[in-house]
Amino acid sequence: MSNKRVYTFGNGKAEGRSDMKNLLGGKGANLAEMNLIGVPVPAGFTITTDTCTEYNEMGREKMVGLLRSEVKEAMKKVEATMNMEFGSKDNPLLVSVRSGARVSMPGMMDTVLNLGMNDESVLAIAKKAGNDRFAWDSYRRFVQMYGDVVLGMKPESKEDIDPFEQIMDEVKEAKGVENDTDLDVDDLKDLVVKFKAAVKKVTGHDFPVDPWEQLWGAVAAVFDSWMNPRAIYYRQINQIPAEWGTAVNVQAMVFGNMGDNSGTGVAFTRDAATGENIFNGEYLINAQGEDVVAGVRTPQQITKEGSLRWAKLAKVSEEDRATKFPSLEEAMPLAYAELFDVQEKLENYFKDMQDLEFTIQDGKLWMLQTRNGKRTAAAMVKIAMDMLREGMIDEKTAVLRQEPNKLDELLHPVFDMDAMVKANVLATGLPASPGAATGQLVFHADEAGKFPVTILARIETSPEDLEGMDIARGILTARGGMTSHAAVVARGMGKCCVSGAGECKIDAKARTLAAGGMTFKEGDWISLNGSTGDIYEGKIATKDPELSGDFGEIMELADKFRKIDVRTNAETERDAKVAREFGAQGIGLCRTEHMFFEGERLVRMREMILSDDEAGRRIALDKLLPIQRQDFKDVLNTMIGFPVTIRLLDPPLHEFVPHEKENQESMAKEMGVSVDVIKKKVEDLHEFNPMLGHRGCRLGNTYPEITEMQARAILEAALELKAEGKPTFPEIMIPLVGTVKELKMQEKIVRDIADQVFKEKGDKVDYMVGTMIEIPRAALTADEIAEVAQFFSFGTNDLTQMTFGYSRDDAGKFLPVYLKQGILKNDPFQVLDQEGVGQLVHTGIERGRKTNPILKVGICGEHGGEPSSVEFCVKAGMNYVSCSPFRVPIARLAAAQASLR
Ligand code: ADP
Ligand code: MG
Ligand code: MG
Repeated sequence: MSNKRVYTFGNGKAEGRSDMKNLLGGKGANLAEMNLIGVPVPAGFTITTDTCTEYNEMGREKMVGLLRSEVKEAMKKVEATMNMEFGSKDNPLLVSVRSGARVSMPGMMDTVLNLGMNDESVLAIAKKAGNDRFAWDSYRRFVQMYGDVVLGMKPESKEDIDPFEQIMDEVKEAKGVENDTDLDVDDLKDLVVKFKAAVKKVTGHDFPVDPWEQLWGAVAAVFDSWMNPRAIYYRQINQIPAEWGTAVNVQAMVFGNMGDNSGTGVAFTRDAATGENIFNGEYLINAQGEDVVAGVRTPQQITKEGSLRWAKLAKVSEEDRATKFPSLEEAMPLAYAELFDVQEKLENYFKDMQDLEFTIQDGKLWMLQTRNGKRTAAAMVKIAMDMLREGMIDEKTAVLRQEPNKLDELLHPVFDMDAMVKANVLATGLPASPGAATGQLVFHADEAGKFPVTILARIETSPEDLEGMDIARGILTARGGMTSHAAVVARGMGKCCVSGAGECKIDAKARTLAAGGMTFKEGDWISLNGSTGDIYEGKIATKDPELSGDFGEIMELADKFRKIDVRTNAETERDAKVAREFGAQGIGLCRTEHMFFEGERLVRMREMILSDDEAGRRIALDKLLPIQRQDFKDVLNTMIGFPVTIRLLDPPLHEFVPHEKENQESMAKEMGVSVDVIKKKVEDLHEFNPMLGHRGCRLGNTYPEITEMQARAILEAALELKAEGKPTFPEIMIPLVGTVKELKMQEKIVRDIADQVFKEKGDKVDYMVGTMIEIPRAALTADEIAEVAQFFSFGTNDLTQMTFGYSRDDAGKFLPVYLKQGILKNDPFQVLDQEGVGQLVHTGIERGRKTNPILKVGICGEHGGEPSSVEFCVKAGMNYVSCSPFRVPIARLAAAQASLR
């Protein structure tokens, strides 16, 4: 820790720089840098983030003691630059006190402006500016802000009324005016008196008059704000360490509220929504601080072009626009011209889209903040590609600028912006699965095909609705959360879904939906936004995702730097096709159990399960063989030339038998046996802990005929395709292996069958036999296992379950609490636990490659599409990651970034 706690800036000089964000916070570092490159910034100084940490340890008294002389020195410099004096009665310098962490944190302390004012200085300021109204407006703002932020006058909850707002409303009402700009000097003087009285009443103390006392109070309040519950919560969900601390920026005030030749605003160097290279923003004349974002008046556009566009949308006549809401370009052309130059300079300098805050005091422009602007996914892609083409950034930077998770927004249809203007929101549910959908209402899954494009509205969905969900364009449910059946299935399908829309009354029998005071019948049009949860009346035009253009180019660039393959988890032809379009290089996990859950397959499966002996099972399996062969052929056919990892049967058999009386009866009828037989069988299959029970290769080793059938189906399918001139590369994967013997037994069955099949058909295909690594023991004995396995695929779902000892199905009860208490940083089923589970992955790879140097290694758990986990896999030396189809582009990008870092 350096002993220097205060860094000054001003007048083209600065002790800090933009690469000192850790010490000075983002705001402070960039204020310094702007000074260095000749952008006009009011002088000031930054107290370091390390001081915040000291403050938290030693408390206010000691911290002030440590800081006092450095701050006084720094203040002298500011005074010299501004030619004013902090605390002076005749020529008072006013300052702002602003927080600023390394990364911007909404919910931290609000800014205090005009600090240093009291009953004496207000007179001097009025005199010097020749403007009483301005001086008293600044004073009342100061008492209000300082009262709220430092003295704790601001109510904790939004429902409670801010005492200052209340007084303000009363004064405006008594006077019969709407805007604060309509108040005159006497009103403002009145406000100051009333505000101070309110402070005294609530806090029991007089409002502090000594500017230095005010300053230390504000500095301490900024540091305290680092530990306020909102900030702590924000840090928790964004994984920001508490040790970072916040910096404090103290800066000479410039005034946007000095009259009609002054103003304040925010601007973006490019369009943050679309990414277009258009300078834009909003400002207010005769206003201060955050009036623009706070919505105290209707903000005006900065450019004339933007202003014209705004007027059209807001239906404001050209005359009103030009007189009441002129653009900055028209109202203050000189200041605008300077702002335009500055924004260009800042973007060129920081080489990224900038989000700017500025104030114009009596025609003179001052910059108060610049930072890389937040943007939509579309803008993220476009801005990076445009800047690459403009020669501003290189290819690597363009790839590293992308936030992989954000790409999700781009892979689904969106509403047409123009069509959205008139859209009427009926209700809002949970944004369960992104994308936009418009269609005609249906209320039953089996009626999803009743109209060409439909929205399926259900109270909640169940597995029987699967096919209907697939047909519908979008899904709306009244019940269920983000992890409800509808939500999970829809995300898997990449289909728009709004779940848990409690305001919607859905009556499936009457086929009606009531929402937003309207009632809709079957066939009526509604629209859903699965990214926001909004439900709209009527038909709204949607646009398909644009997968070529800039998006395509950025993905190509990513592939250029990517060193490992990205495959997909898919078991249907449809999913596999989608994944291919998204650039998947094979299938990393094809689950075979999904192929047995419906129609004829389920009947045959149940027949097999019901059989008491091998002979009976073989009869049922023989009937399953052609069905399986066709399934595999379809899947392999979508991945010609690419590897496809097919996992043999994995789940406990009881998942295939019915548990409800009604279904047991129909199954009995189907099978031609008595209900009691079914009941008995279901009871036999009951397990106390099925996840740790008779499943995975334990099935194949107790019923080898299942493995035989599946191996045969796979290899026959591959041979048929080969005969059609289509090369395939099946990789047969044995699940849930814990000991090498388990694998050896299964491997022998597969190899024997392969020899048989190849002999029968007089032809061969290349294939591999490998295993999932999902039991800790398998990772620990990977050296032995790799002597048999040709590949490892880390099944990190089960591996996480067994390493933590958390049941995946029951963890929902305590994981949220653990996350909130900070016992866990992340849900380990979503973000790979690199510290614990990661060790098993490292060990598994290292020991496996020791005995089998050409061992192929991948991951097929949920983690294969999560950026930080992908980065881990790249570093661990895997050959590929595999994830659900809609996460393929995200994984491609994350893998490229991992290689670049
Ligand atoms: P936030 O982090 O919430 O954006 P800031 O510290 O940037 O808060 O302050 C908010 C606004 O207050 C700024 O955008 C600017 O308009 C105003 N402001 C801050 N400091 C000054 C100053 N020295 N002079 C004039 N206005 C200021
Ligand atoms: Mg703020
Ligand atoms: Mg700001």
